[in-house]
Amino acid sequence: MKYEPVIGLEIHAELLTNSKMFCGCSADHASASEPNVNICPTCAGLPGALPVANKKAVELAALVGLALNCSINKRSAFARKNYYYPDLPKGYQISQFDFPIAEKGWLEVNADEKNQLKVRVRRAHIEEDTAKLTHEKNYALVDFNRSGVPLLEIVSEPDMRTVEAALDYATKIRAILRYLGVNSGDMEKGVLRFEANISVRPVDSDELRKRTEIKNLNSFRALVRASQYEIERQIKIYESGGTVEQETLGWDDARGVTISQRSKEDAHDYRYFPEPDLPPLNLSDEWIQSIREQLPELPEAKTARFMADFALTPSEARLLTSELSLANYFEEAVRHAKSSPKTVSAWIAGEFMRNLNERNAQPVAVPAESLAQIVDMVADKVIGASAGKTVLTELFERGGDPAQIVKEKGLAQISDEGFIQEIVAKILDDNPSEIEKYHAGKETLLQWFVGQAARATKGKADPVLTKELTLKGLEERRK
Ligand code: ADP
Ligand code: MG
Ligand code: ZN
Repeated sequence: MKYEPVIGLEIHAELLTNSKMFCGCSADHASASEPNVNICPTCAGLPGALPVANKKAVELAALVGLALNCSINKRSAFARKNYYYPDLPKGYQISQFDFPIAEKGWLEVNADEKNQLKVRVRRAHIEEDTAKLTHEKNYALVDFNRSGVPLLEIVSEPDMRTVEAALDYATKIRAILRYLGVNSGDMEKGVLRFEANISVRPVDSDELRKRTEIKNLNSFRALVRASQYEIERQIKIYESGGTVEQETLGWDDARGVTISQRSKEDAHDYRYFPEPDLPPLNLSDEWIQSIREQLPELPEAKTARFMADFALTPSEARLLTSELSLANYFEEAVRHAKSSPKTVSAWIAGEFMRNLNERNAQPVAVPAESLAQIVDMVADKVIGASAGKTVLTELFERGGDPAQIVKEKGLAQISDEGFIQEIVAKILDDNPSEIEKYHAGKETLLQWFVGQAARATKGKADPVLTKELTLKGLEERRK
């Protein structure tokens, strides 16, 4: 029997606010000087301390909801999710249950190479992060800097049927969060975590079988590997006649296996009830509208515009819009360049990205105007393409002015036909036996002759012209 996976994702995203969700402590746990400095009775869970909802967090949550095509509930409420763990000393997490701030949205993703898929977003609700535990040999340490940091949990319907779709969904959500400025997307800092819910079923059936949930996936790589592993594991169980148990799994990245943590609890195990210390959120139409007006152009819309305005292919446009900073950079370079946007895009996708990745740099490391100058100099044949790459690398390494670098390094291209003609003629005349072989049919020698000419000019001769003149010279020498 052939099986297909059914995947639903839960994404936990910390919201970039100054203060925590229910108290005034700094929410910036990543740059805290030491453990337990951003702490007060509320986020330490002392009895009697009262929470106050963070307005900014509510705004950011609504902004994400709108970006994911959700409807924003005019009335949403907080609820207590009861469970005890040392990183949650209150004995409950304040979350939203029956009345989340946003629900019923969707996001279009790539199901595979050819097909698009509309993944339904079931809900997005506000909650608070837990404290952080560090396990030592015989004891554990708890750091409350993270306790109470605002979190948005975005829950999809089980609509994905491939790991590619899940990866694309997660990638697009991260890009949207970064475009909105509500989350840095720094997964190594734990500010964005994925949970994959996975079941498998016979292809073409529409049953929803028992699923497992893999917790705390902290990278795209972990999401992909854990999902693939879990799909295979479940298929093997069914093929050997067994049944999959509903459970919560962890992912052991070093060993590449999922491990059982506990049997998965159902919602009723948490004994949710309305949070008595917080009033419900009543959001007016005007307020929701004012948030909607803050929505920037999102990656999908920008991709479509880049394709329409700049004649880019979908993959060219998608690369440029993958990061807002890169998209802005591209548009600025286009404004400065005489060359076509397509040419600018090709430079960014190639040499520019290579430099960025190699150096882990930001686009602004090289002014967009300088990139435009390089692209134009190559297009105008002032320098050759490989000299253009040299100038770009130089700008990444030391900065400076492109024209000045061309001058200093003597990179200007030679396009003087008479000059190149002379060099080509000399090379041809010096190599009569190679010419003979060429005329006898060894056409690959053309490239060898061109290479000799390039060497003679230290690569500065216009390569197209050189090739043309070499070919002409070879033909003239046919008897
Ligand atoms: P909860 O975690 O509160 O129990 P659900 O079980 O309804 O909520 O859903 C949690 C996540 O699991 C959602 O992202 C949903 O899409 C996904 N999910 C639910 N059922 C299945 C299933 N049979 N296979 C795969 N994913 C599922
Ligand atoms: Mg869950
Ligand atoms: Zn606090």
